Amino acid sequence: MFDFAIVGAGFAGSVLAERLATQLDARVLILEKRPHIAGNAYDYYNEDGLLVHKYGPHIFHTNAAKVFDYLSRFTAWRPYEHRVQASVDGKLVPMPINVDTLNQLYGMNLTCNDVEAFLASVAEPRGAIVTSEDVVVSRVGRELYTKFFRNYTRKQWGLDPSELDASVTARVPIRSNRDDRYFTDQYQSMPLHGYTRMFERMLDHPNIHVMLNTNYSDIQEEISFRTLIFTGPIDEYFDYCYGRLPYRSLRFEHQTHDCKTFQPAAVVNYPNEHAYTRVTEFKYLTGQEHNKTSIVYEYPTSEGDPYYPVPQPQNAHMYAQYKALAEALPNVHFAGRLATYKYYNMDQVVAQALALFAKIQDRFDEVGSFAMSRNVTSVGTESAIAESDLPSPPGAGRAA
Ligand code: FAD
Ligand code: UDP
Repeated sequence: MFDFAIVGAGFAGSVLAERLATQLDARVLILEKRPHIAGNAYDYYNEDGLLVHKYGPHIFHTNAAKVFDYLSRFTAWRPYEHRVQASVDGKLVPMPINVDTLNQLYGMNLTCNDVEAFLASVAEPRGAIVTSEDVVVSRVGRELYTKFFRNYTRKQWGLDPSELDASVTARVPIRSNRDDRYFTDQYQSMPLHGYTRMFERMLDHPNIHVMLNTNYSDIQEEISFRTLIFTGPIDEYFDYCYGRLPYRSLRFEHQTHDCKTFQPAAVVNYPNEHAYTRVTEFKYLTGQEHNKTSIVYEYPTSEGDPYYPVPQPQNAHMYAQYKALAEALPNVHFAGRLATYKYYNMDQVVAQALALFAKIQDRFDEVGSFAMSRNVTSVGTESAIAESDLPSPPGAGRAA
């Protein structure tokens, strides 16, 4: 009999397994349908010996010291500040838009002091900021919106920005200074030996048993446990009884080239050309020295593994229905990007998992055993976690 069965070995599942095993001496069974741990953060050395991210570029950044300190138990870090260029009007220019982007695009000589006045002259005032179009057009006007955001978003989501919540494009700030970093978080680093190695260390505990290539639904009748933690898609858990929550997917095309460097930045975004959205060259992220270089193209699709919850009001409504079902289950907790249908970065998922663990621990301290938690309804669902426990949403406070 396991104390906990955890579905999914990504950040949500692995952090919870580690905490439960080491802090509460719980016996934990992790079920992972893929042939590897680490979820979408999985990285591996390819046939040429280059470290690549199977599911697209994963850059760690956070303002939460608690999250950084926690992960630092399992990895050393390589300081890394991410930079992105966008291919617009035949030029590669800094993204997020900053003063140099504007000068290079329009052949101007704006200083940082001029930028706000320039943006104000092109911005289209909007009443309420509701959609992803509103956010951008109200700040930089229609022309820059069209060059940098409209077509990228249509490609990435299969939706016009006017159909998506403001939070999506608000992830990318607009800057009036020269800062060309993609993120301005206090902690920006990559795990020195990769994400998978970090996860291996997290899960290396005698109380944690990992079953790979195992879909929970195939073996749920055969395993014995007290409490379930589910980190897969919440609509799948409930057999889609309220309908399917949409998730956007990607097809990744990995390539290795026989040259030291392929492109001038870690990531080049292609808002207006090609079927892919961006190209990532991993050596920038990993710092690896190698005579060859590996890259990945991201092609958005509606079919395939669920990668992105789609932030739209009707989906939030459907998720609220599933969440109400989740809250009525006494011995099942839902955590992570898919189970709580939130467009969370890695640090937010770690913070959410740590907050859920704290609730389970409180309850354990109160009743003294896991068995007693069977009929407890007030603990463990996502709503038991205050939003204030989580790092700020991406974009918040980043606009300069
Ligand atoms: P996941 O990593 O999705 O893990 C869930 C696991 O559950 C999966 O391994 C899945 O196989 C397993 N599972 C699901 N259902 C079942 C089942 N029925 N039975 C068994 N196993 C099951 N975040 C950042 O902070 N920085 C970035 O740069 C960044 N870049 C990203 C780029 C891309 C292309 C994508 C898609 C995401 C990116 N993210 C980034 C977000 C990051 O991937 C997530 O925040 C994080 O991985 C979520 O962890 P999780 O545990 O919630 O989910
Ligand atoms: N976006 C855009 N143009 C860009 C970069 C981003 O329109 O050059 C929009 C797009 O809608 C994207 C969102 O901003 O989905 C968030 O971008 P981010 O780079 O954070 O996406 P992620 O890394 O999560 O895929």
